[in-house]
Amino acid sequence: MQWPIVFDARKYYRNFAIIWKFHYMHIKNESIKLRMKCFDPKCKWLAFVSRLNDEHTMELKGYHFEHDCKGKLGSGNKLANAQWVPNEVEDVTICIERIVGSYDMGYNVLPELNVQILLSNHNSISSTSTDGVTK
Ligand SMILES: [Zn+2]
Repeated sequence: MQWPIVFDARKYYRNFAIIWKFHYMHIKNESIKLRMKCFDPKCKWLAFVSRLNDEHTMELKGYHFEHDCKGKLGSGNKLANAQWVPNEVEDVTICIERIVGSYDMGYNVLPELNVQILLSNHNSISSTSTDGVTK
């Protein structure tokens, strides 16, 4: 498994731990080398990632992906911190907009949509309005 840069490798493991509901700690957290271990000292889960000779690509070099611990179910994950949450929400928002289109653009064309509904449906009671506070 490879990542284009160390930032992507760090992001991958942070998301991985949050999704699988466990905590890890960095034994090494350098631009050329990452070594993560499950936060439970008795657990053997670990991942070792190092930079290739191209000086940017990071590659998984060693791992033990089975947990001996039970994780931290029901407790907050320290990896899902105030920095992580807005980044993930922004990523999700970008993905949703790519699928369904821009919400802002949708609201901008809403008056024209109403005009088209009224033109093609005689006796229609269709109308649009905006909230000046949340506009
Ligand atoms: Zn573990």
